[in-house]
Amino acid sequence: MGSLSIKGLRKAYGPVDVIKGVDLSIKHGEFVVFVGPSGCGKSTLLRMIAGLEEISSGELRINDVVVNDFAPVKRGISMVFQSYALYPHMTVFENIAFPLRVAKASSGEIESLVNKAAKILKLEDRLQHKPSQLSGGQRQRVAIGRAIVRAPEVFLFDEPLSNLDAALRAEMRVELTSLHRDLGATMIYVTHDQVEAMTMADRIVVLDKGGISQVGSPLDLYHRPQNMFVAGFIGNPKMNFIPVTYEGRTAGSIVVRLPGGSQFQVPADPAAEGDWQNLILGIRPEHIRLEPNDTVLDVIPHVVEKLGIHTVSYSKVDGNHDVSITTLASGSLPHQPGERFRVGFKAADCHLFDERGLAINRRHVVEGGPIQAERVQ
Ligand code: ADP
Ligand code: MG
Repeated sequence: MGSLSIKGLRKAYGPVDVIKGVDLSIKHGEFVVFVGPSGCGKSTLLRMIAGLEEISSGELRINDVVVNDFAPVKRGISMVFQSYALYPHMTVFENIAFPLRVAKASSGEIESLVNKAAKILKLEDRLQHKPSQLSGGQRQRVAIGRAIVRAPEVFLFDEPLSNLDAALRAEMRVELTSLHRDLGATMIYVTHDQVEAMTMADRIVVLDKGGISQVGSPLDLYHRPQNMFVAGFIGNPKMNFIPVTYEGRTAGSIVVRLPGGSQFQVPADPAAEGDWQNLILGIRPEHIRLEPNDTVLDVIPHVVEKLGIHTVSYSKVDGNHDVSITTLASGSLPHQPGERFRVGFKAADCHLFDERGLAINRRHVVEGGPIQAERVQ
């Protein structure tokens, strides 16, 4: 078993609150990713779970036992860091075996556990090599092997792929996802990379300035971000934010005025209400249509990226240079920098945010409290 329950967890360094009261439950076997920009508190939260940072207040339970004051080795966890921290003079076998030797396991047991981990990680033919003879990806697998042999209840990963090049990161993402499936263990994975979060997580915890901004499955966060921070963080290229003015509402929609003057109806929950004036309309670059039936905006691109599989354009709204519009479309498009083109979008794809940055349409059905685990099948 490897379940976690975090209640009101806080961490202060002197007068500075770094973790500001986090509530979260994690079910056995879940792959949970903590994501957020640099400095938001991801490593601190993970290290508090590991027992490497003291908890200022709040409660941390692993398998329903309060472990606030347990030493790291007593918590049933293993942590893998960004720097692999392998012993250069030891072979791969001895590096993986190290925690078992410390725990005074028998040589037969060590042999069997190291070989099993090496098989899972495809390191069988590297066991007698030294770390210097391995690639970055292989070194990171050795570090993971050292975590596996301890058979932890919970694996903690702190940006383990950040030192690898892009191709290797993509490969290791797939390997870690398979590893999670094979081991069935609980994994908590910290990254600043939303692609890693989207591709690996059962559930993503988005952190912002030491607090949870939103928790949900990857597609939940993509389709129903609760605020502009999550909307802007999840998705690449980033969601466009267009300032609009509130004009009025009908039973199922909110009417806004776009830059340029046209009116636009965005579907909204009839229960949503507020004293609105200036709103922000959010639309993802991939939802912007380049041959719209209803033209809503003319834009002038200043950069056009032609990637073969798709074309990304970075534009300003014609006549309103304060408003930027990024588009993402399949294939190679003929757009050129400086050449105006027309874009439109479907009302159903739009997000609306109030002046505080909170979503006022497409809201999540579950609100408040620690969100219960929901495994993606
Ligand atoms: P992340 O991993 O998300 O990049 P961290 O958890 O490392 O962020 O840091 C969160 C915040 O806590 C940062 O603002 C950092 O400067 C601060 N912090 C981390 N460790 C200490 C420390 N030992 N003393 C004071 N402040 C710290
Ligand atoms: Mg960190």
